[in-house]
Amino acid sequence: MPSSFEIAVFEGDGIGPEVTSPALRILEKLSQNSATYGFEFNTLPAGATLYASTGESLPETSLDGARKADAILLSAMGLPSIRKPDGTEISPQLDLRNELDLFAGVRPVRISPGQRTPLRLEGGQSVDFVLIRESTEGLFYSRGTGEVGPDEARETMVITRKTSEKLFRFAFELARQRKAAGQGEGRVTCVDKANVFRSFAFFREIFDGEAKGYPDLLADHAYVDATALWMVEKPWIFDVMVTENMFGDILSDLGAGLMGGLGLAPSADIGDDHAVFQPCHGSAPDIAGQGVANPFAMILSAAMMLDWLGLRHDQADMVRDGVLLRDTVYAVIAEGRQITRDLGGNSSTEEAAAAVLERLGGS
Ligand code: ATP
Repeated sequence: MPSSFEIAVFEGDGIGPEVTSPALRILEKLSQNSATYGFEFNTLPAGATLYASTGESLPETSLDGARKADAILLSAMGLPSIRKPDGTEISPQLDLRNELDLFAGVRPVRISPGQRTPLRLEGGQSVDFVLIRESTEGLFYSRGTGEVGPDEARETMVITRKTSEKLFRFAFELARQRKAAGQGEGRVTCVDKANVFRSFAFFREIFDGEAKGYPDLLADHAYVDATALWMVEKPWIFDVMVTENMFGDILSDLGAGLMGGLGLAPSADIGDDHAVFQPCHGSAPDIAGQGVANPFAMILSAAMMLDWLGLRHDQADMVRDGVLLRDTVYAVIAEGRQITRDLGGNSSTEEAAAAVLERLGGS
């Protein structure tokens, strides 16, 4: 009997449902080809459209469903036209991060030879690093509770020892896994602004303490401003980077830009007991309903889910399928025949997803 995994699915707003459905079909196909695992998908309501009709963006029952699931697949949520009374957008994905204590935001940046990128890479040169963004505190800690007076506004940044230690251990473990898989040299870079802020000096000190537990790996530091420069000038120098919430928010969009846009940027938000997998992009209301959204960020996020579930449950087939799915997406991109217009092609969402499915032996 194959092991069955329950996946909570949030289809979200805008292009969310359009990119979710092909990703689920692909996961279904992979599991059908496997004798060892299967999926049960449980679609749960949440998001801006739901908020507009019910006044709730993440109902308690949906949160419970997410808590019970083995993993959570979340598409894009929020719409600029639907806002809370204080003017902020609906963002249940941020609520999930806090409710499920998903402290590690994992943002891989990969540029393969032949992929469209604003960088000028020398022949055959590739980029492959992972940015880890702390996702529950930092400058996002005061989200929704910042003090705004008539002439002054304040937000508070919070860095805790407990979360930072867990975050850094996560980063070192990932670097170790990557090194063992022949990806990267086993190096973790702490990205901060320790030359200006005491909170970042504290962050760095905790990083150095955790680094001592990983003598087989390299540990170094970089200031966030220099990191932004080097991500453009020489991104191949990075392996695993770990940083505060707001710095990570900004640098991960820079990483997406290097990869040729948000349509190729997957992500995972991981905690001790739960994990959410979602594309970095938003709900893209400007192209919603046209069938032209790039499904690859969502499909690559599903591949990250296979990696995580497979390692966590000792499912070698799943780990292998995570690699297969990622390689298949990159093969479709390299071939360049069935890619969406954001990547310079003219295929629809369905045609691009079909190219992946066909290579996996399905239709
Ligand atoms: P959020 O704040 O919710 O992250 P955002 O304001 O950053 O959202 P997105 O919704 O991600 O904005 O869209 C930014 C731009 O990228 C838009 O022009 C959108 O059409 C484009 N875009 C985003 N995702 C995709 C995708 N999957 N395929 C093609 N284009 C996309």
